Amino acid sequence: MSERYARQELFYGIGRQGQKLLQEKTAVLVGCGALGCTSANLLVRAGLKRLRIVDRDYIEESNLQRQSLFDEEDIHKNLPKAIAAQRKLQKVNSHIQIESVIADLNPSNIETLLINAHIVVDGTDNFETRFLINDYCVKNGIPWIYGACIGSTGLTMNIIPSKTPCLRCMLEEIPPFGTTGTCDTEGIIAPIASMIASVQAAEALKILTDNFDTLSKGLLKVDLWRNEIKKLQVDDIKEKANCMTCKQHQYEFLSNDAYSMTTSLCGRNAVQILHPNGSKLDLATLASRLKKAGDVSFNSFLLRAKIDKYELTVFPDGRSIISGTNDASVAKGLYSKYIGM
Ligand SMILES: [Zn+2]
Repeated sequence: MSERYARQELFYGIGRQGQKLLQEKTAVLVGCGALGCTSANLLVRAGLKRLRIVDRDYIEESNLQRQSLFDEEDIHKNLPKAIAAQRKLQKVNSHIQIESVIADLNPSNIETLLINAHIVVDGTDNFETRFLINDYCVKNGIPWIYGACIGSTGLTMNIIPSKTPCLRCMLEEIPPFGTTGTCDTEGIIAPIASMIASVQAAEALKILTDNFDTLSKGLLKVDLWRNEIKKLQVDDIKEKANCMTCKQHQYEFLSNDAYSMTTSLCGRNAVQILHPNGSKLDLATLASRLKKAGDVSFNSFLLRAKIDKYELTVFPDGRSIISGTNDASVAKGLYSKYIGM
């Protein structure tokens, strides 16, 4: 093992002691898209004790341009992102524990999925999940690293509970649907995701080796096309904001009532539907039932059914992603017709 981390141990900021600390730590990555693939790769190579990868999605052809852990074979095999990432990364480093969870992070599973986390790395693509992570991490004193990318622009910031402002201090409410673009509507170039994720991974290494003094302060904004790198100071925001999360200690995103069972995946022309109580679906039985309606294929992770102009992807916990519509009521109708509530 001594050779594996030799160059990292030589580095003055980490050393033997830092490496030892690192190997006792658990990181949780929420969202394994463009950002997540890169940060997971860097953290697994750096050598933690455990990386848990939580992702709700499967791999599509348009992901390959920037999601560096996936390949064409993963698509042919219909693999969820969490599974494909775990398989790749475990080959890179067989000495650490890599866990994959195919799930939508929500108030009812967040306690289980973020258990033992020393850090949470943001690889999500939406504010609903980020505010959920923010509430949980501030409440439990866990550092987390915000990251977001679109076009050629990326943002990242460390959120260290009780020390820095939190995401809620920065953005009082969730930006309304449609006012912030997504990679699916505005496009993205891969280098910006790679850069922001690299910053996130470096900051994670500092946090996990107790190098808090060297952490990047404020909100970093980079535009690789316009050649701009800006650091926005956020020191006084915490004092100014009467933040629901870190001042009033009201963690409303952790309440189940706040969470929508139906989420339009913006720009994707798809809707995610959660099963109210989580169910144990037998995909083989469902497949034989749906064969009469359309083209069906399945593996142990998911079932895919093409029915008319829609594509239904169903997971064993009853969660479904229905593509071909942005209309929640159409998606719900298809769900109850073919899968059942
Ligand atoms: Zn706050």
